[in-house]
Amino acid sequence: MAINNYLTENINALIVDLSPMPVFVCAGKNMVVEFANHATLKAWGKDSSIIGLPFNKALPELIDQPFFNLLIQVYSTGIPYYTESDQVVFLVKGQRKTFYYKFSYQPLKDEAENVWGVLCIASDVSELSLANKRAEESERRFKNLISKAPVALCVLKGTDFVLDVANEKILEIWGKTEEQVIDKPIFDGLPEARGQGLESLLNNVYNTGVPFFANEMSVELPKNGQVETKILNFGYHPYYEIDGAITGIMAAAIDVTEQVISRRATEEINRQLKSTQHRLELALKAGRLGAYERNLTNGTRIFSDQFKTNFGYLPDATIDINVLMDSIHADYRTAIEEIQARCLVEDYPFNIEFPVYWPDHSLHWIVLSGESNTNEKGDRIISGVTQDVTEQKRLQHQREEFISIASHELKTPLTSLSGTLQILDRVIKKDMHSQPLIKQMATASIVHLKKVTNLVNDLLNSTKIEQGQFVLNKTWFTLSELIDNCCDHIRLEGAYQLKTEGDLELQVFADEHKLDQVLVNFVNNAVKYAAESKEIIIRIERNNNTAKLIVEDFGNGIPNDKVLHLFDRFYRADNSGAQYSGLGLGLYICQQIITAHNGEIGVESEVGKGSKFWFTVPIK
Ligand code: ADP
Repeated sequence: MAINNYLTENINALIVDLSPMPVFVCAGKNMVVEFANHATLKAWGKDSSIIGLPFNKALPELIDQPFFNLLIQVYSTGIPYYTESDQVVFLVKGQRKTFYYKFSYQPLKDEAENVWGVLCIASDVSELSLANKRAEESERRFKNLISKAPVALCVLKGTDFVLDVANEKILEIWGKTEEQVIDKPIFDGLPEARGQGLESLLNNVYNTGVPFFANEMSVELPKNGQVETKILNFGYHPYYEIDGAITGIMAAAIDVTEQVISRRATEEINRQLKSTQHRLELALKAGRLGAYERNLTNGTRIFSDQFKTNFGYLPDATIDINVLMDSIHADYRTAIEEIQARCLVEDYPFNIEFPVYWPDHSLHWIVLSGESNTNEKGDRIISGVTQDVTEQKRLQHQREEFISIASHELKTPLTSLSGTLQILDRVIKKDMHSQPLIKQMATASIVHLKKVTNLVNDLLNSTKIEQGQFVLNKTWFTLSELIDNCCDHIRLEGAYQLKTEGDLELQVFADEHKLDQVLVNFVNNAVKYAAESKEIIIRIERNNNTAKLIVEDFGNGIPNDKVLHLFDRFYRADNSGAQYSGLGLGLYICQQIITAHNGEIGVESEVGKGSKFWFTVPIK
């Protein structure tokens, strides 16, 4: 038989039979199993009874598998077939099991080169194949892990640093698509990154195996066709093979540009804040202003050194708030406690002047000003400044003394002068022969003297208020009568019409003389500063237990920003000094008088329309 001849000539049958590698021969177009060694029969799960049977009879269960068709193909074409690893399913103890075989199908030809059969030599590579599969799977998982990683990652292979894997995040940082960079040496795919020292860093890690980490490194990278500086935290790590050889670099990067920019901005703000604070401290120091902050909610407090100095303490002293309160003059403590109570419930700006006794018992005047608010935690905070005004107080007192003495001294001769002038005036008016010029001069002298007297009176009144020599002498009187009896000088002149309106019966219990002073001041001001308003209306209103008196003129009015200050001492709304005599004391004195009555004083004014000066006093 041809087959036996072939085998005898070429193969030692025994060796073949004992070989662990399956060897079989099929012949003819039906692929009759002519020979199958022991390893083949074992793999097929058959015994030698199948020898001599066509393939589809011998192994019907394998007929639908590719390798059967391959046999037919080699038989019919005469072209051998090789495979490194093909999948085959065999029945092992009745169960289908997958194997991988490396095999070759060799056409067997007779002398006439006609294919008469196929020799198959196979080797089971299932283990190897599975190991490869597992390695592939692990590679796939690794790549998947990289692509899904929340940080930017890539793997560069070889000394050219060919980009093997890159996830979306790193492509985003680079401003590249996968096609632009993958499988290319990194500096070809990303030429923008050249020349920034990264090449030598990569080489170093590759050659030494020592990883490299960079914090907040600025790297120029492309963005929308332009080069942009990105700030990155990144690391290069050697990429090891199982045998320990370094075959590449694994790079990880986090784009921290935004965080770093915002942190740097915060740092800059903090720096500016510090410098502002420093300047503020210098200003406070130069002005010898103490600074404080009290958290009313949790009781914490900060006092600057100057604050402590203002209260007579050494800078390193610890301040007990109760001791501090006790050092304040008793007359002012309630007012300060009231401020504190208001600060607890509302945003309240305050300014208060009070004397304190230093620990050495000396008396000092302090101005405490500040404002309360709520901090971001919801705590109530009072903060502000203190100033030692003892010296100013002393000078102010000296000035008051001087004004008081000077105006007193002036008052006596002025009174005599006024009397003399009035007599002189009467005499001149009676004298038929006196010159008109002399008459005019006498009248003018009286007017001027009146002005000087008013100024001196204002000065005297204001110092009396300051020095506390201010006593109210209250009686019952009718407000309309007060109005009727006041301002004769204006009524007699006849240039202005004073109209009284409202509750003409209303009586109040107050210091008539002092309220007259307020009213006269209002009316005089209307004549002085609203000279074009020929009509002046005085209105009396009753509101529950208070009486309100309003003096309305139709002059030029007062701008809003000035209205706020009208009642301040020495304040004059315009530079009317040259035109109208006055010291800016009239309304200040009025305010003191009304405050002493527990009343209120104010003005409503509209530029171009006129002003309504008003005050209220309790009826009783
Ligand atoms: P003085 O009259 O001595 O300047 P006052 O305290 O009486 O001081 O008044 C303060 C300022 O208020 C005045 O200088 C004036 O500019 C302004 N003023 C007062 N009354 C009126 C008014 N009726 N119309 C316009 N301005 C007024």
